Amino acid sequence: MGNRRKFIRTAGLATLGAMSLPQMLKGRAKQYSGGPGNESSIPLVLSTWQHGLAANQAAWNVLSRHGSALDAVENGVMQTEADPGGQSVGLGGLPDRDGKVTLDACIMDHFGNCGSVCFLEGILHPVSVARLIMEQTPHVMLAGAGAQKFALENGFKITELLTGKSRKEWENWKRKSMYQPVINIENHDTIGMIALDEQGNLAGACTTSGIAFKMHGRVGDSPIIGAGLYVDGEIGAAVATGHGEMVMKTLGSFLVVENMRRGSSPLKACEEAVKRITEKVKDYEKGQVGFLAMDTKGNYGAYSIHKGFNFAIRNQEENELIDSESYLP
Ligand code: ASP
Repeated sequence: MGNRRKFIRTAGLATLGAMSLPQMLKGRAKQYSGGPGNESSIPLVLSTWQHGLAANQAAWNVLSRHGSALDAVENGVMQTEADPGGQSVGLGGLPDRDGKVTLDACIMDHFGNCGSVCFLEGILHPVSVARLIMEQTPHVMLAGAGAQKFALENGFKITELLTGKSRKEWENWKRKSMYQPVINIENHDTIGMIALDEQGNLAGACTTSGIAFKMHGRVGDSPIIGAGLYVDGEIGAAVATGHGEMVMKTLGSFLVVENMRRGSSPLKACEEAVKRITEKVKDYEKGQVGFLAMDTKGNYGAYSIHKGFNFAIRNQEENELIDSESYLP
C-alpha cells in the first residue's frame, strides 16, 4: 500500500444517535495536512501491523456497542494473543533461546491507571492479567513467577503456548546457532493498540512474546509504561513496536505523547520520537522501531525508522491497513 489519502469522515447515524453535539463535532475533527490518513471519526481504534485488522475488529465489536476504550483494547489484543498463527504474540509466539515462550503486556486508561506483566510464562491472556493488576492491586507491574502466581490465584489457567511450528523454528535456529536479526523479517510484530471511544476517552494495550530467541529473562519495551505504551487522557495515546531496547533508551511512547502536549500532531510527534532514536541510539539503522499515535480528537499518525511498518485503522467506515512514513527508505 503506498501513499495514503487524507480523509475526513463523519460518524454514521447509529453512532451519532448516542453522541452529544460536542462529541459529534469531535467526530468531525479535521486538523492538519501533510501526513497519511490523519483524521478520523470517532470511535476509532488503531493497532500495529497486519494482525491489527482482526484485533481492531474485536475492539470495534466493543466500541460500536457504546463500550469503553479500555474494554475495547483488552478485547482487541486478546484476539491476537489467542491466535496460534501469529508468532510474535501469545499463543504460538516464538520462544527465547531456552525454548520458553515468555510474555510482556500492559494496559492503560485515560485516568493514567495502568497495569503490566513481564517475563510471564504459560498464560494465554497476559493483557487481562495486566488489567487485573491495574484494577485489584496497589502495584503497576508483576514479573515472572510472581505474575504467574497472581494469575493462577485469580482463575487463569496454565496453557502450553509453544506450538509445534514455533518449536521447529527454534530447533532450526539452535542448529544454525546464530543471532542476527534482519530488519522487518525478524519477529518484531508486537500488537500495540490505542482506542478512542464515543465518550472521548482513550485507552491503550500492548502485548508480545518479544524478540524471537532473546536471552532468557529479557524484557522489552512493551510492558514498560512510557516505553511500549503511554496514554494521557487529556492529550493522546501512543504505542511502539520494533526493537524494544531502542524504545526503552528513549522512553519512546511517553516522548510521543509529550511531543503532542507541546503541540505536535500525532504524525509529527511520532517522527520526532524516531528522530530522537536516530540522534541518541548507536547503530539505530540496524533495527526497526515504529510509533503509532492518536490525540483526543481522533487525529492520528505513525512513523518508523525504516519503511515497512504498517498499522490498521478501524472506524465507522473502514478497517484497513496503512503504511507509515519512515525516516529511512
Ligand atoms: N517491541 C517488542 C520487544 O522488543 C518487539 C516487537 O515489537 O515485536 O519485545
